[in-house]
Amino acid sequence: MKIDLHVHTTAFSPCSVMSPDDAARAAIQAGLDGICITEHNRLWNKEDARALWEKHGLQVFSGMEVTTSGGDILVFGLEEEPHEIWTPAQLKEKVDRVGGVAVAAHPFRGFLLFGFGALQMDLTQAVGNPTFSQVHGLEVCNSLVTDEENEMARRVADEMGLLKVGGSDAHNIRAVGTCITEFQDVISDEKDLIGAILSGRHTTRRMK
Ligand SMILES: [Zn+2]
Ligand SMILES: [Zn+2]
Repeated sequence: MKIDLHVHTTAFSPCSVMSPDDAARAAIQAGLDGICITEHNRLWNKEDARALWEKHGLQVFSGMEVTTSGGDILVFGLEEEPHEIWTPAQLKEKVDRVGGVAVAAHPFRGFLLFGFGALQMDLTQAVGNPTFSQVHGLEVCNSLVTDEENEMARRVADEMGLLKVGGSDAHNIRAVGTCITEFQDVISDEKDLIGAILSGRHTTRRMK
């Protein structure tokens, strides 16, 4: 099943120019089976996600992109919204308590811009980022970062034995489905989705 795990809509992300309906239509057009809406620090309630699911016949899940002191972390299964800046360790504890998943979003975004090459950051330094020991996985396919930055994330995930997931980080309809996670398991609810992410039986794919 093809799912875009990282989508922002105008419902709660002011940086997005895409309504929830448009996001669902774009996902269907891109041939996806589902999307996970991950607004910044806000969680969709399950009824709204379900209503969108039923209206469009597309699986719609609600996760969250949490701003932590160690960077953006995507969470699935956590129902508590942050009202202060948590550390990655605080967030991980909450996520583990509910059996959810935490994934560092675009872990190397901007590194190229800020001298990724000039700094000659090697794998050992990259692996040393303390945030990476407080997540289950890394986002290794994100459409808003460079191929080199995605590749670095993939190498670090392999080195650390972390899960590798993909999501477009779409803020407009053109981006929906450009980076996806393709699951081997059949997913029919949020519990399945979390189990499928944790199982590692999935690959990421760049669609455009
Ligand atoms: Zn982000
Ligand atoms: Zn995002």
